[in-house]
Amino acid sequence: MLVREPQRLFMRSGGGRDCSYGDFDQLANCMARALADHGVVTGDRVAAQVDKSPEAIALYIACLKLGAAFVPLNTAYTLAELDYFLRDADPRVAVVRPQTRQQASSIGTSAQLLTLGTASDGSLMELAARCSDAPVARFEGNANALAALLYTSGTTGRSKGAMLTRGNLASNAVTLASVWRFSEHDVLLHALPIFHVHGLFVAVNTVLASGSSMLFLSRFDADDIVAQLPHASVMMGVPTFYTRLLQHPGLNRETTRSVRLFVSGSAPLLPETHREFSQRTGHAILERYGMSETLMNTSNPYEGDRIPGSVGPALPGVDVRIADPESGAVQTQPDTIGMIEVRGPNVCSGYWRMPEKTAAELRSDGYFITGDLGRIDARGYVHIVGRGKDLVITGGYNVYPIEVEAEIDALPGVIESAVIGVPHADFGEGVTAVVVRRTDSTIDETDVRRALEQRLANFKLPKRVLFVDELPRNTMGKVQKNLLRETYRDLYRA
Ligand code: AMP
Repeated sequence: MLVREPQRLFMRSGGGRDCSYGDFDQLANCMARALADHGVVTGDRVAAQVDKSPEAIALYIACLKLGAAFVPLNTAYTLAELDYFLRDADPRVAVVRPQTRQQASSIGTSAQLLTLGTASDGSLMELAARCSDAPVARFEGNANALAALLYTSGTTGRSKGAMLTRGNLASNAVTLASVWRFSEHDVLLHALPIFHVHGLFVAVNTVLASGSSMLFLSRFDADDIVAQLPHASVMMGVPTFYTRLLQHPGLNRETTRSVRLFVSGSAPLLPETHREFSQRTGHAILERYGMSETLMNTSNPYEGDRIPGSVGPALPGVDVRIADPESGAVQTQPDTIGMIEVRGPNVCSGYWRMPEKTAAELRSDGYFITGDLGRIDARGYVHIVGRGKDLVITGGYNVYPIEVEAEIDALPGVIESAVIGVPHADFGEGVTAVVVRRTDSTIDETDVRRALEQRLANFKLPKRVLFVDELPRNTMGKVQKNLLRETYRDLYRA
């Protein structure tokens, strides 16, 4: 980290606690020393399952200073899951919350356990407080050195650790700071979790790369966000942030006047949300697309059309192409739907200790197979149609869920929907719609089916339309279609 002006504000967290770049650098130096005292050397891993705090960010930077790889873990992971990650990542040190220290010590790990709490408590802070804050011997390794292992939020099978290099993090941070026009005058409103690519590498690294500052909120709370917006110039969020803000009466042109940029990603932003937000505030949300394995790949432009429902063109230095999912043949015709593949300095070097998975998802010419299906239009804008594994194949026909969802979402009385494939004796999979309707709406299965008959080919029509109060989502706001498929797997068995 380059500390240009040590007194410059880096982050303001809950209760108005300020941390300057200089203070932060000192804290990270002390933490690096504490880790080094616990045997952490270049090439080691340091795992962290800790709450969001300035100290947790300092821990990440301390690892970079030592040349160790940071392994952030979702705070929602259970002990059994923590056990898996510690075995897999094989870290020298694992930092956990003080309240989980005892449980964590029951795991058969060779990692040394340290603790970090939210209010500067925990053994790591005690060690850091006793350490000299003189800079540690800076790691001068090259861009290919491992900087982080980021476990995919994989919903099936074992979670894989994407190996992100220092070059991956640096190139993406510099690119995003540039294309989103970050400067030292910016204040980013940060309410995302920091164990994920979005909150840690997109948000924090972009701030560090531009010398700007952050309002660092422990979590998303619509009241807090509306109160803080007048003090911010940029906000980054997942689509649920925006749908929740739209339900808040305080969201308007006045409260968003000082903001120059709203960014959305990690899950699809519904075009209606984009339009509604724009009507309420005058801001066109900028949607971008990326993933744990590649950091950010595409972004709608800062200047130019931000197209609702599109994630924009490839970022500078990143190549994006569409390939036939079966044969891998590259599709050059605009608007052909296929597998999205990406190549560039942002793409991870593979999966930790899984050479066969690495070989299966990285092509010999350097392209990474994202697992997302999409198309690139004639202007070069990428449109995602869904995860490959969410594609429904019914009677031999491919049905892209997003096409059916868009029709259902446009019906009066519908808030949102998820279309999934459920095992069906005749068709292989039956197209099935799970719908959330407005509380004042009486729209039912027959109404939905009848409306869609006018709009969609017969094979795309949902065989069943089911109503739920809300769709299951993970912490990043992604709809968990795997859970829906599990819930309804016997639907057509009767
Ligand atoms: P993760 O590794 O948890 O960040 O998940 C990455 C996945 O999230 C991608 O492969 C996409 O399926 C999805 N994703 C990320 N950003 C977007 C977006 N703007 N629109 C649609 N899907 C997205």
